[in-house]
Amino acid sequence: MPAGTVKSFKPSKYIPVSAATVFLVGSTTLFFAFTCPWLNVEVSPALPAYNAVMFLFVLANFSMATFMDPGIFPRAEEDEDKDDDFRAPLYKTVEVRGVQVRMKWCSTCRFYRPPRCSHCSVCDNCVEEFDHHCPWVNNCIGRRNYRYFFLFLVSLTLHIMSVFICGLFYTLGHPNQLRDIPAAVTISVMCVAGLFFFPVAGLTGFHIVLVSRGRTTNEQVTGKFRGGVNPFSNGCCRNVSHVLCSSSPPRYIKRSHNQTFLSVSPPFLRPEVSESQIGLKILDNGIQSPLQHYQV
Ligand SMILES: [Zn+2]
Ligand SMILES: [Zn+2]
Repeated sequence: MPAGTVKSFKPSKYIPVSAATVFLVGSTTLFFAFTCPWLNVEVSPALPAYNAVMFLFVLANFSMATFMDPGIFPRAEEDEDKDDDFRAPLYKTVEVRGVQVRMKWCSTCRFYRPPRCSHCSVCDNCVEEFDHHCPWVNNCIGRRNYRYFFLFLVSLTLHIMSVFICGLFYTLGHPNQLRDIPAAVTISVMCVAGLFFFPVAGLTGFHIVLVSRGRTTNEQVTGKFRGGVNPFSNGCCRNVSHVLCSSSPPRYIKRSHNQTFLSVSPPFLRPEVSESQIGLKILDNGIQSPLQHYQV
């Protein structure tokens, strides 16, 4: 999981993602080992090939959702806005397409959270277009990795359905050998697929509705636009194409060995001011002292 700060290692948070990986990879491996050889010979080689491609697609999206930076904003430096911290109001309001949107002051990151940004209590970072924190991928879902999370859900639903239907073919093709090991394994994998289908398909349906309406999970569950207009929606088709086809947003933090930040400055942080700019600013204020006077 990408991080903006150095944090303590908590093994318990790796349990859900490890369990998800074991179930996904373990069940699919058993399916390929015990069910697919018969499908390949007796039904069609296209079925194992389709399942292999779909499984790789699921794994690729799962990995991207897990390991990609979701859009973490770097924290302001310790001394930046030091005085403002006490005087700053808790909220500032900006207008987005005629709708007033509140930006809350984040006392941990020391800036006003841009619209749709929220501070994740698990990761302890502000995340751009925060959707939710997903323990199953052990990462925040935000602007940068939402596409992969969404594609992971859709492809996982299709994969589970495909494994179940192929298992059904196998079982119906071996009515008198259901106590044999391959049939028993196939039925066990079908049980796992049946168990996971409804929660995964339900979550996928929920996110299809969210994408079509241009909302995040966070906005939906907190009722942000209840009874009002969502200024971030561009209509169903554009909302879908924005999630699936828009270019990848920039990273605001750079991961390195000593955790240094800022490869790209977010738009709301003050830009660094050069010495010549400081000089201009002083002269604008009418103070004619030479620039050297202010150098430490
Ligand atoms: Zn924050
Ligand atoms: Zn998080």
